[in-house]
Amino acid sequence: MPRKLVVANWKMHGNLASNQQLLEAYIQKLTPLKNTDVVVCVPYPYLAQAQSILHNTTIAWGAQNLSKDPVGAFTGEVSASMLKDFGATYVIIGHSERATAYCESDENIATKFMQAKSHGLTPILCVGETLIEREAGVMEMVVAKQIDTVIGMYGADVFANTVVSYEPIWAIGSGLAASAAQAQSMHEFIRGRIASADKEAAVSLKILYGGSVNPQNAVQLFVMPDIDGGLIGKCSLSASEFEGICRAAT
Ligand code: PEP
Repeated sequence: MPRKLVVANWKMHGNLASNQQLLEAYIQKLTPLKNTDVVVCVPYPYLAQAQSILHNTTIAWGAQNLSKDPVGAFTGEVSASMLKDFGATYVIIGHSERATAYCESDENIATKFMQAKSHGLTPILCVGETLIEREAGVMEMVVAKQIDTVIGMYGADVFANTVVSYEPIWAIGSGLAASAAQAQSMHEFIRGRIASADKEAAVSLKILYGGSVNPQNAVQLFVMPDIDGGLIGKCSLSASEFEGICRAAT
């Protein structure tokens, strides 16, 4: 059985003292964990702290964004190689909170995906539809365009050994998760879309579900055949809730 992957997205929460407590609790509760890999994506300033606390543990760390450019006069940006300097191995790309607030296009997001991949970071590409798009029945069309933009620019083989996170925008932070059937149906669609262009890439790809996952709904979601784990926002800020979700994955 393939290993599950559970990723904490701390968003813009935390400080040095609270992060230390939370990371130490993660270590105590989550190492080692059978059949499940755990990653925590922290705000940029805390990458060094994550590295110093998590090195030599089974928990990996990463960032929540990166620059689409490798180096240069881009004030305020952070490059892939800078993330690597702090031992990051994963990076979230195209989270809807960023895509909406900073008007990131699918092309911009695809460029970041490739930037991460070409520097040896594992990109976690977020895709998903709004409530209006779901109610209009066009959710697959919306997600297909997000996936196809990467395929069109770089080919389907770039999805090999990467992560896609299906995050319906209406489910993020709302307390209203997608049902297991809704999530499974979209995950199957995503895997099929990539498989039709590159079968091997689709097999090695992990597809996470994100959006109001909690310890109560996690098992129903994670038993679905195309759900390889979760991207967890709010519940990752509580070590015991995050543990509940990670244990559901095992
Ligand atoms: C997220 O922001 O990626 C997320 C899934 O948040 P939450 O778990 O709080 O819905």
